[in-house]
Amino acid sequence: MKIGLFGGSFNPIHNGHIDLAARVRVQFGLDRVLLTVAKDPPHKQLAGNVDAAARLRMAEAALADAEGLEASGLELHREGKSYTVDTVRGLLYLYPDAEIFLMVGEDMLQNLPSWREAETLLSLVTVIATARPGVEGTLEEAAAVLRRRFHAKVFFASFVGQDVSSTMVRQYIAEAKPVSGLIPSEVERIVYENAYYQEETVSAMQEKLRLSLNKKRYEHSIGTMREAITLAHRFGADGKKARLAGLLHDCARFKQELLLLLAERYGLKPDTYEREVPELLHDRLGALLARDEYGIADEEILDAIRCHQLCRENMTLLDKIIYLADKIEPTRDYPGVDALRAIAEKDLDRAVLACMDSVHEHLVREEKHIKPEGETARKAFRKMMEEKENKTN
Ligand code: FE
Ligand code: FE
Repeated sequence: MKIGLFGGSFNPIHNGHIDLAARVRVQFGLDRVLLTVAKDPPHKQLAGNVDAAARLRMAEAALADAEGLEASGLELHREGKSYTVDTVRGLLYLYPDAEIFLMVGEDMLQNLPSWREAETLLSLVTVIATARPGVEGTLEEAAAVLRRRFHAKVFFASFVGQDVSSTMVRQYIAEAKPVSGLIPSEVERIVYENAYYQEETVSAMQEKLRLSLNKKRYEHSIGTMREAITLAHRFGADGKKARLAGLLHDCARFKQELLLLLAERYGLKPDTYEREVPELLHDRLGALLARDEYGIADEEILDAIRCHQLCRENMTLLDKIIYLADKIEPTRDYPGVDALRAIAEKDLDRAVLACMDSVHEHLVREEKHIKPEGETARKAFRKMMEEKENKTN
């Protein structure tokens, strides 16, 4: 059995890692490639301070469906500092007949002679140096040293690597830019739900929100935040505002009694329907709680939270994004949601209108009360769209 060994901190694992492992596997006819997650370094913190167990969980999620690629926690259980030679010994103990292919990056190839028990290590493995096209030439010298000094077997894997790095992923998360093209969506979900690599103020809000909502509602809120960031990027809105509005839009989605209590505290006067269905109050109460409990002072964000249920006339770009993100975020699953997602790929206004219509149809079908404010907003939006279309025709 041919086993590839690809070690790294995977902080977090990204599409570039997966792509590289898959290509090496094919090029060298390996049965499997183990992506071994490095232990937490004893005296320093990794960027983002995401521990090894969590990095392994992300790698496992990323590779769940990848043929011949596996996440490995082989190094995590070992005491003391972790050396590659020990990992290789461990593997050979588990698989005595295995042939081990050690994947190393450009910089590592040069350092290999100084690794712990380099001679033994190089007698146990075949080295696959991964280099960007054109770089192999400059690495030939390092390879020659290894061959001459250690009789090492060294090969090159050329690849047109995806231009992704873990640093880039962490930066994008912190800056509220979408990462859906950089990491698998399951990893993205884990990263956002746990506030990994997130700005500190945002992760504090997330934690507070997590403690005050049920699990499903929390996951929906995180999904809405993710989707809002994506839509903001797509349609040119402020990603950081979209992130906060998406995160907090349902921050008052509490039990009925609590909603009525809060309404009383804030002096809202629920009408007959709201008394019957207090959930209808969660948009206005949400904006108030976002201001008072989460310290949001930005009126644009508060407005978007306030109108995410019923919309309003003259909706801003952010209003539309939050309204839409709420309805199509990744954990949503109802008939027609994919059609809405498809429209949202291209046209924000058309997607918003389609959402308004589908919510309306749903209310009619379920014989639920239709709030006049919502109807006014929907009609105004339709009129605006028609006028826009007439202008372009
Ligand atoms: Fe809501
Ligand atoms: Fe919602």
